[in-house]
Amino acid sequence: MKYTEVNNFINGKFVQTEKPRFDVISPLDGKVISTVPLCGHSELDEAVTAAKNAFPGWSGQTSKKRSEVLYRYHNILLNHIAEIAASIHDENGKNIGEATAEVEKSIELTEFACSIPQITTGEILKVSDGVVCQTEYTPLGVVASICPFNFPHMVPHWTIPNIIALGNCVILKPSEQVPVTALKIAEMFKEAGLPDGVLNIVHGGKEMVEAICDHPGIKAVSFVGSTEIAKVVYRRATSNLKRCLALGGAKNHLLVFPDADPDMTAADITASFSGTSGQRCMAASVMVAVGNVSHIIEKLCAETRKVRPGLNLGPLISQASREKIIKYIDQSEKNGAKILVDGRLAPVEGAGDKNGFYIGPTIIEYAHPENMPAEEVFGPVFEIVHVRSLDEAIELENNSPYGNAASAFTQSGGLADEVASRASAGMIGVNIGVPVPREPFSFGGWNDSKFGAGDLTGKGGIEFWTQLKKVTKKWKKQEKTNWMS
Ligand code: NAD
Repeated sequence: MKYTEVNNFINGKFVQTEKPRFDVISPLDGKVISTVPLCGHSELDEAVTAAKNAFPGWSGQTSKKRSEVLYRYHNILLNHIAEIAASIHDENGKNIGEATAEVEKSIELTEFACSIPQITTGEILKVSDGVVCQTEYTPLGVVASICPFNFPHMVPHWTIPNIIALGNCVILKPSEQVPVTALKIAEMFKEAGLPDGVLNIVHGGKEMVEAICDHPGIKAVSFVGSTEIAKVVYRRATSNLKRCLALGGAKNHLLVFPDADPDMTAADITASFSGTSGQRCMAASVMVAVGNVSHIIEKLCAETRKVRPGLNLGPLISQASREKIIKYIDQSEKNGAKILVDGRLAPVEGAGDKNGFYIGPTIIEYAHPENMPAEEVFGPVFEIVHVRSLDEAIELENNSPYGNAASAFTQSGGLADEVASRASAGMIGVNIGVPVPREPFSFGGWNDSKFGAGDLTGKGGIEFWTQLKKVTKKWKKQEKTNWMS
């Protein structure tokens, strides 16, 4: 095996367990590269105990002191970009360029957390003579972060740096499909001087997630993954009276107007839907073609044909995912859709291994919008539907159960503003294929793409991972005050 076996990281140490192990399979060639234990209640108990014990010391430090660890961690990340990218590439399959971009995003997220002492200063106001009110962000205690397979390094960095900078202790539960990169997170935080028990990593699947939702020692849970499981986690964690934010799947609509820049639009959409093999919740999923945009579709198909499995397109996460997506394309074709670019039988080129879980980029065009299934595809598949007016386009977008992102491609500011204000999505792009907000702005969708109040990253993350303490003080004994003063 290319990597040593994965173990839980509890109280600053990697801990062996007798639990059954799951093979970690590289999507690049189908080979087993490591194994991961499928743990549950007892291992979680150990992790929560370690985190609880670490909490008084960690939360008792000044936030400036805590951020010193994050500065050191940030430097360690900068010095290990290639090593981390290689492990993301091996276990997730995305190409090295994409994996490197993922680590760079983690670095940006860590930079934001380093600035937390400057932006969580609280407020103070004299509310009457000799009386002041002040607010203070205080940590919640032990919290948990449950992650998906598609960004083994970045999604944990949506949460961990902010969580610990704010004084909490954390239990990370990576996806069992990509647990190797998480080990590097543990090792590098240890090297940065993070005290034992502040960050703990437990491995597993359903049983571990349920244990996290039920554990009385965990105050808040974040989840990133499919909508189906996000609903389960949100219901279960909140029914146990925990704070929960559960981010789900997506099907992002791009409204393309005839005046859009054809070259830029074709290039941006191709990069958006095929990047990371379409396995990202912000990927372009559907073009809502408003009026005649055939000149743009032509260029889009030409751009798409330049994306080739093994050369500049990585594989899907698993054979099961590959088969599911091929079935989706087959079914759409059977139902009368036109396959403008067909990736089902695309050859694997360059250094790509024939046993990898590859599929070529695919464009499906529907004669009638209602023929397009509402479900998320999560692969390098782009769907096109045609409408006659802006109103029809907005109605179609609004009817999607999801609401992560929506974009307008046009040269008209008025049209773009109209789309931005009427789309039912949390993140809007104008001539942008992947409209991810950058720090300090928060990441988070609407509708079935997110359950819970607030957002997970940026300023939203500060609210989610803290509770606000309101202190009212009076020092002037001679002041006559009643209870309202
Ligand atoms: P997933 O829902 O299968 O798994 C996510 C996590 O849930 C993993 O840690 C997994 O171990 C756990 N899990 C799996 N089955 C479970 C069950 N039955 N009960 C309890 N826990 C379970 O998601 P995935 O396949 O790893 O990731 C892809 C999905 O994540 C896509 O739908 C994608 O859109 C979504 N995603 C969303 C965002 C966002 O910001 N909204 C970001 C990244 C990924």
